[in-house]
Amino acid sequence: MSFEEPQAIRTTCPYCGVGCGVRARRESDGSVQLSGDPEHPSNFGRLCSKGSALPETVGLAGRLLYPKVDGRRMAWDDALGAVADGFTRAIEEHGPDSVAFYCSGQLLTEDYYLANKLMKGFIGSANIDTNSRLCMASAVAGHKRAFGADTVPCTYEDLEEADLVVLVGSNLAWCHPVIYQRIAAAKEKRPEMKIVLIDPRRTMTADIADLHLPIRADGDVALFTGLLAWLDEHDAIDRSYVENHTEGFGDALKAAQPASLERIAMLTGLNAEQLTAFYDLFTRIQKTVTLFSQGVNQSQRGTDKVNAIINYHLATGRIGRPGMGPFSITGQPNAMGGREVGGLANTLAAHMELEDSGHRDRVQRFWHSPRIADKPGLKAVELFQAVADGRIKALWIMATNPADTLPEADLVEQAIKDCPFVVVSDVVNETDTVRHAHVKLPAAAWGEKDGTVTNSERRISRQRPFLPMPGDAQPDWWIIAEVGKRMGFEDAFAYDGPDEIFAEHAALSAFENEGTRDFDIGACAGLDRGGYDALQPFQWPRPKESTSSGQVFVDGGFFTQSGRGRLVPISPSVRREHDPAFPMTLNTGRVRDHWHSMTRTGRSPRLSQHLAEPFVELNPRDAARHGIANADIVRVSSGDGAILVRALLTDRQSPGSVFVPMHWTDQFASNARVDRLVPAVTDPLSGQPASKNAAVRIERF
Ligand code: SF4
Repeated sequence: MSFEEPQAIRTTCPYCGVGCGVRARRESDGSVQLSGDPEHPSNFGRLCSKGSALPETVGLAGRLLYPKVDGRRMAWDDALGAVADGFTRAIEEHGPDSVAFYCSGQLLTEDYYLANKLMKGFIGSANIDTNSRLCMASAVAGHKRAFGADTVPCTYEDLEEADLVVLVGSNLAWCHPVIYQRIAAAKEKRPEMKIVLIDPRRTMTADIADLHLPIRADGDVALFTGLLAWLDEHDAIDRSYVENHTEGFGDALKAAQPASLERIAMLTGLNAEQLTAFYDLFTRIQKTVTLFSQGVNQSQRGTDKVNAIINYHLATGRIGRPGMGPFSITGQPNAMGGREVGGLANTLAAHMELEDSGHRDRVQRFWHSPRIADKPGLKAVELFQAVADGRIKALWIMATNPADTLPEADLVEQAIKDCPFVVVSDVVNETDTVRHAHVKLPAAAWGEKDGTVTNSERRISRQRPFLPMPGDAQPDWWIIAEVGKRMGFEDAFAYDGPDEIFAEHAALSAFENEGTRDFDIGACAGLDRGGYDALQPFQWPRPKESTSSGQVFVDGGFFTQSGRGRLVPISPSVRREHDPAFPMTLNTGRVRDHWHSMTRTGRSPRLSQHLAEPFVELNPRDAARHGIANADIVRVSSGDGAILVRALLTDRQSPGSVFVPMHWTDQFASNARVDRLVPAVTDPLSGQPASKNAAVRIERF
């Protein structure tokens, strides 16, 4: 590191859910110096390519710098008035459910908290959802079914301590590189540590795996129910733990049947040898963490997959102990913080439930709010369907680009275009979403923003500013508060800074909570500006009486009514059948050096060198059948549309399936928006789209 530490600000990387600490400083010439924060306990100084390239992405090119209404620059007061008027009018004419907010895992916790307070507690609708629905909603639903609360049981240290790490539906090497580096370093130190990768693709993550299972899309439910049955047959159930700390074991075991190796092989596309190798490793090795990501969550049976994983951990007592547990790793920098403030359409602040009248009453009394939403709102996919069919009259999109990233993206873009009143608050001036906004509000960007985020291991860290806010840009929390005041809620939205919002959020987590809820950061309730500025990264729960981070599920202690961990009956089930006209399976995901729809990483020449244009990965056998050579242009089509991308032939891709990265939009390359191919199929419990298993066909263009 070339700059002196005392002048550097300690903040957090704005990309993935690893939540790496960084030190950053603005030089006198306006350039930015940055390095990993050696004292941050999530990364200990490590950064990946995206984090290291942050200084290349903080320039003002393409920034939205001034409020605009119908394309004309406006003063803040006029633009905020237009937003408040637009929403108030829709509510008066069509009721509170005629308006909607669509938020983002890029928002800071304070922003998220206020957006939810305004919508659920003051407008009185729960039509507020987030792009985190696309990221981890299935994990949330699975945690609640099993634990009675949305609690992630593991930490990154557990991954290093484990003797067996099972990675499911996760290309950790590219999507969560610093976690990958930590596991790789642990394995180098202890080569006896085993790593199993379960993924239809042989990704770069396979390079450290002892065993790769190239499972058929959505075959993992059968794989994991089969494991539960295998453990029972091989006397590997922890009967004492099951007896004392769980419920539902018998029903879960029954639902897993029949589970012969032949049947599981048929459902998973794996052979008996591969199944036995995995099941045997799990049976023999006690200290096991199962880490899962979007390959599990983004599925029509995402919640069932999560519970199938938790089931085998509960059945073997491998939870709440060092080096053991099921571990959902989030995609976005603050997906977890959003969950803490009730960022989903079916949740309330501080991990309370919208459908629980006691919780609604408690939150309403705390907020002194005139009303509170009394039923769950529309989840992301449903929300944009309601925009399309005219039920939503006023829509506010914050820090996200749904026109490119939701399933059936072309329909979503058209819905936004046709919506009578659209507000977008963002840092960029032009995306496929921003271009349709009636009101554009310039938000502060990373490096300018001030607040907190929570990473995948429940660690809350500060994002601190080290750059001035350019033009008229303002923090998201300020924009939301000013709209709230103009809608008539002056007192409830009078904040002088994010520290006051964070302290209120912490106080709500402790309000009438005598250990009845998992999320408790009551120790931060009285924090003043000085304490907020000095806040060091910490893990929740951190109740009032405690200064140290709490452990969860030690000797049980689940948040279900019985206090027991619940095994959920999951059937191995059958595959979703594809239309024969679209015989191949499309898998979508990230590449190493880009992030979401590239509004930030697309500015870095260094990052764009890794993979310069959109592509489709396909197996050479499939390519030969279709007369496709490497680098040919390929049309990939589904029942919902078509894209044109370059062929990348690789035997890392299983025959019968293709992979297309999610990042390139029509803005960056013509006809590259992959989410136009993905149907709006969602998990019925979590509402998370099944983005890993769309039916497509390919042809040479
Ligand atoms: Fe940022 Fe994630 Fe890379 Fe860490 S691993 S530097 S949080 S992108």
